[in-house]
Amino acid sequence: MTEPVSRDLLGVLGDWEGFEVAQITTEAVGEDVFGAPAPRLVLVLRPKAGHAKRCSQCGAVVEKVHDVSERRVRDLPLGEWDTWLVVPRARVQCPACGPTVEAVPWLDRYQRMTTRLAETIARLAQVLPIKQVAAWFGVGWDTVKQIDRRALVAQLGAPEDHLDGLRRIAIDEFAIRRGQQYATVVLDLDRKRVVWIARGRDQAALHGLFAALGPARCGALEAIAVDMWKPYAAEIRAHCPQAAVVYDRFHIVATYGRDVVDRVRVDETNRLAKAAGPGAVRDARRVIKGARWLLLRNKETLSTPAERVRR
Ligand SMILES: [Zn+2]
Repeated sequence: MTEPVSRDLLGVLGDWEGFEVAQITTEAVGEDVFGAPAPRLVLVLRPKAGHAKRCSQCGAVVEKVHDVSERRVRDLPLGEWDTWLVVPRARVQCPACGPTVEAVPWLDRYQRMTTRLAETIARLAQVLPIKQVAAWFGVGWDTVKQIDRRALVAQLGAPEDHLDGLRRIAIDEFAIRRGQQYATVVLDLDRKRVVWIARGRDQAALHGLFAALGPARCGALEAIAVDMWKPYAAEIRAHCPQAAVVYDRFHIVATYGRDVVDRVRVDETNRLAKAAGPGAVRDARRVIKGARWLLLRNKETLSTPAERVRR
């Protein structure tokens, strides 16, 4: 018997191994991300005659079907159609494993969708915000997040494993929500990757890391680079007293500029004010005012003669 052309084409586009399209229906539902009506294609599948069923546990071919239930799953859109499949899911009676579900290689294991849709979502989530990917496919934010996380774990390993073998780490803070809030980030300097992120930049933000590491892994830390943010230092002393605390140069210079150079400038101005009359104070002040940058610069990089004179 010759199959209708449309059904052949669907079979090629679908490539649902072991199944063929038994029935095509359409539904008009909702709106797409542009507010246009989103037509939905619902394809009812049936097992292909002669296709052997396999146990999803051990992969063995199984003759006996225990029972069959229908499952509705998402697939990639076909053309402009949101596409759903109604799949008969057989439970087979495996001689080795007992009753198990039939292996269907193109069905995603945890989500109610096909593997190829889950893979497409994972690829897009690498370059687009989760919210946009979820809106595009009309799936939940949590679903995209879960798929993205699973893909990342497959690619990079579980985040928990990144806490093993740490020797030298760096701790820094960064602003989120335009500086309304802060977060703490911890980097593995040897393997050059982020191993921890926590909300806040207080002692509690860092405490989570050390608690997750436990005493043995805390004790193995050799050096910890931090800025001069005091709450971090207290938490480090409490959990990793053996680790060398390293201040990065940027923060040393910044702190030196603020706490040392500025203090000296204020003191000098006051000293001059006492020593000289009112007229002289203004001149002296003018030299010291604006001298902060000058005092922080290297002698060699002072370029203009005017700058050198003030030196
Ligand atoms: Zn089995």
